[in-house]
Amino acid sequence: MALIVQKYGGTSVGSVEKIKTVAERVVESCERGNRLVVVLSAMAGQTDALINLSREITESPDPRELDVLMATGEQVSVSLFAIAVKSMGYDCRSLLGFQADIHTDQIYGKARIKEIDTHRIVKELDEDRIVAVAGFQGIDKTGNITTLGRGGSDTTAVALAASLKASVCEIFTDVDGIFSADPSVCTHARKLDRISYEEMLELASLGAKVLDIRSVEFAKKFNVPIHVRSSFTRNEGTMVVVEDREMERVLVSGVVFDKDEARITIVKVPDRPGIAFEIFDPVFKAGIVVDMIIQNPSAQGLTDLTFTVTKTHFQETLRLVRGVAKEIGAEKVLGDPDIAKVSIVGLGMRNHAGVASKMFEALSKESINISMISTSEIKISCVVEEKYTELAVRALHEAFGLGNEGEKN
Ligand code: ASP
Ligand code: MG
Repeated sequence: MALIVQKYGGTSVGSVEKIKTVAERVVESCERGNRLVVVLSAMAGQTDALINLSREITESPDPRELDVLMATGEQVSVSLFAIAVKSMGYDCRSLLGFQADIHTDQIYGKARIKEIDTHRIVKELDEDRIVAVAGFQGIDKTGNITTLGRGGSDTTAVALAASLKASVCEIFTDVDGIFSADPSVCTHARKLDRISYEEMLELASLGAKVLDIRSVEFAKKFNVPIHVRSSFTRNEGTMVVVEDREMERVLVSGVVFDKDEARITIVKVPDRPGIAFEIFDPVFKAGIVVDMIIQNPSAQGLTDLTFTVTKTHFQETLRLVRGVAKEIGAEKVLGDPDIAKVSIVGLGMRNHAGVASKMFEALSKESINISMISTSEIKISCVVEEKYTELAVRALHEAFGLGNEGEKN
C-alpha cells in the first residue's frame, strides 16, 4: 500500500461544502488502496481574519499569543474535515501540530521544523485511520505553540512526507499546476508536466506563488516528489522532481515576474574599502532583505550604487540610506518604487550561450528599457518599469516559444 501525503490549501477548504468535497476525494484515494495523511490549511481568509482581530487590540500583538491565535485557523479545518470523513463511515483522526509531534525552533511566526516524531501518526495509520494534520504549526522545546510563517502548510506537508517516506506529496490548490507563465497574464501559458527542484526554487523565489519556497527546499533535501494539482479537477498537475537529462534540453521553462520590488540608487558614493558595509549594515540590521545590488566602476573615486528591496520596505530603506549617504558624503539618493522584476528560468541555460541576448532582444523589440540585470546559472532577471511587466512577460514567453504549440501569445 502506498503512503501518500496530501495537502489542501485555504481555497480548497474555503467552505463546509468544499471540505466535504475534499473528504470525498481523500476517501476515494483510500478506496484505491492508499494510506493517507492529509494536511490542511485554514479555511480561506481565516488566518488574515485572526490577525486582524488581534490588531483591533494592538498594532504589535505579542508573538507567542499571536501564534496561539493563528494556529486555531487550522484547528477548525482539520476538525471539520475529520467530522466529514467520519460521517461518511470512514475512520479519521485530526491531529494538531503538537499532537503530531512536529518540533520546531522557538521563532514565533517563522519557526523552522527541526524534527518530526512520526510514532503517533504511524500508530493511527496502522489502526486504519486517515490522519488529518493541522498545517503551519508545531511546538517548540518548551511546549509553546509555534507557526511556520505564512504559506507554511506546504512545508508541513513536505516535511511529513519526508519523515514518513511517503511515495509522493500531493499539493492540492486552486490552479492546475505550475505554468510556463501566469495564465492570467499569458493566455497561452502551458502547464508543465515536470519541473526540477532547482527550477522550482528559482521560480518560487522570483515571484511564482504556487508553492512556499521552504517546502521546495525540504523536498529537494529529502528527495520528496511533489505533485502540484488542482483540487477542483481530476487533471494531472505538475511533478516537481530531481532533474534529469531530458530537462536540461529545455532552454527556458518559465517566465515569472515580481512587482513587489523598489529601486534605490546612491549617487556618487566615495569608493573606498568598507563603504558597502557602512551603507548596508543599518539596512540589514533593520531586518530588510536586499535583492539585487549593482555597483558601477568608479570614476574619479566616485561610484553609483543601486539596489532593490520590496515595496513595503521602500520608505524605511530610503530613510536609512539617506542618513548614511549624508555621513559618507555621497551626492544624493534616488528612489523608484514603480519597478518590477521579470525573470526567465531554465536548466538548459547552463549549457547554452545566447539565452541572455535573446531575452534582451525580445525586450528591446517592445521598446522596454532594462534598468538592472542579474543572472545565476539557471535564471536571468531584468528590472523594468512596472507598467511594462505584462508586456515583458508575454514578449519573453513568445520569444522562447513557451506557449501551446501552434498558438501565438
Ligand atoms: N493558514 C496559513 C496562511 O494563511 C498557512 C497556509 O495556508 O499555508 O498563511
Ligand atoms: Mg499556499
